[in-house]
Amino acid sequence: MNHIVVLGGGFAGVESVFRLRKLGHKVTLVSDRDYCYIYPISIWIPVGKIDFENVKLPLQELQKVHGFDLVIDKVTSIKSKENRVYLESGKSIDYDYLIIAFGGAKLPLPGVEHTFSICGAPETSLDIKRQFDKLVERGHGKIAVGFGGNPKSPTGVRGGPAFEILFNFVTTLKEKKLYDKFELTFFAPMKEPGARMGGEGLKMLQKAYERHEIKERIGTKIKRFEKGKVVFEDNTVLESDLIIFVPPITGHPVLRNSDLPLSVDGNVLVDGYCRVNGQQKNVFAAGDVARLEGPNWIAKQGHIAEIMSHYAVYNINNAIIGNPKRKGYQNHLNIVCVMDTGNGAIFTSRKWNKEKILPMPVFGHWIKKAWGTYWKKSKLGKIPRLPGM
Ligand SMILES: Cc1cc2nc3c(=O)[nH]c(=O)nc-3n(C[C@H](O)[C@H](O)[C@H](O)COP(=O)(O)OP(=O)(O)OC[C@H]3O[C@@H](n4cnc5c(N)ncnc54)[C@H](O)[C@@H]3O)c2cc1C
Repeated sequence: MNHIVVLGGGFAGVESVFRLRKLGHKVTLVSDRDYCYIYPISIWIPVGKIDFENVKLPLQELQKVHGFDLVIDKVTSIKSKENRVYLESGKSIDYDYLIIAFGGAKLPLPGVEHTFSICGAPETSLDIKRQFDKLVERGHGKIAVGFGGNPKSPTGVRGGPAFEILFNFVTTLKEKKLYDKFELTFFAPMKEPGARMGGEGLKMLQKAYERHEIKERIGTKIKRFEKGKVVFEDNTVLESDLIIFVPPITGHPVLRNSDLPLSVDGNVLVDGYCRVNGQQKNVFAAGDVARLEGPNWIAKQGHIAEIMSHYAVYNINNAIIGNPKRKGYQNHLNIVCVMDTGNGAIFTSRKWNKEKILPMPVFGHWIKKAWGTYWKKSKLGKIPRLPGM
């Protein structure tokens, strides 16, 4: 029986294991964390609207339901010529097929240690909560929220979570009747941050900044961060008690220590079938770890990670059973985003030929909450999967 190894227990890894086990394959999942962190619902941790523990899906629970081998260890390198993966513990694992799904890394900016990111180590969300709670207790303060760009990696820009954190701060401070004692600023180096939401989306964001009197510092490159300061390239300075910054995504460091083809931004290069280019035909990659090719509005997202996993598994399975049919992920690329504001949401959907944006007051927030529960329960087989979700 072929042995399929999946590296990384995030969105792409969990989806791959789920689908491979349904097809009856022998699977080993290697993850450096013993839980899958459900990033899309982590945005409520800083404002105390969800507990850290509820944002986790323990991999042991998943293992009990789906019956795969689980190795909690850190991958240090992949040697595709040997069909082998090396781990921090000194052990190594051989595979017949490999799915690389260990996500991306953050592009470092000078002084980034003076900021907090909701997109990095899960525990940082608790640090943000502590800082935010302190400011609330003090009763006044300045908060800056922003994200960065990476010209080499347009799909690696992650604006959504920055907007979500910003608007959740607004909602929470208003609920606590403290909003007039706080100054909120949104910053980003690009001229039109949020442009992926389309023209209507940009207009909606603009109206929201005006309605909530959020200051904007956009269109100037960020030079560095200092304690309590964002320093821009024109040497202007934004002072803040709490700086939330979402750095752009770049290639995972393990890739540089492996014999795989990489793009200019350090991501692993895959073809439309999610197969790593130029390798023996048994190495696949899905999710944030891979260079994404597609329309200019496409971004690395959880559901794209799942779409890629779906097609990687389909193609591996057909290769194993000797079926020549292969399917590509690119025709299925789309953006589906429910951008939460703490008391509602903005729904964005983009396909190759269609664009839709819809304000969803109140119920949008509850839809996103319900999605989090659905995601967890359906992965654990407690409720059926809905088609396309
Ligand atoms: C705050 C936030 C909000 C988001 N909101 C949305 C949203 O609303 N909708 C949406 O579609 N997308 C959203 N995203 C994007 C989405 O979460 C990512 O695109 C998705 O998590 C990518 O899945 P992945 O499996 O490729 O990577 P990840 O989910 O990052 O998983 C990678 C896994 O690999 C493991 N790993 C890393 N290095 C190693 C190693 N060396 N060895 C072993 N294991 C390793 C990690 O522990 C992790 O479990 C959001 C992201 C963030 C940060």
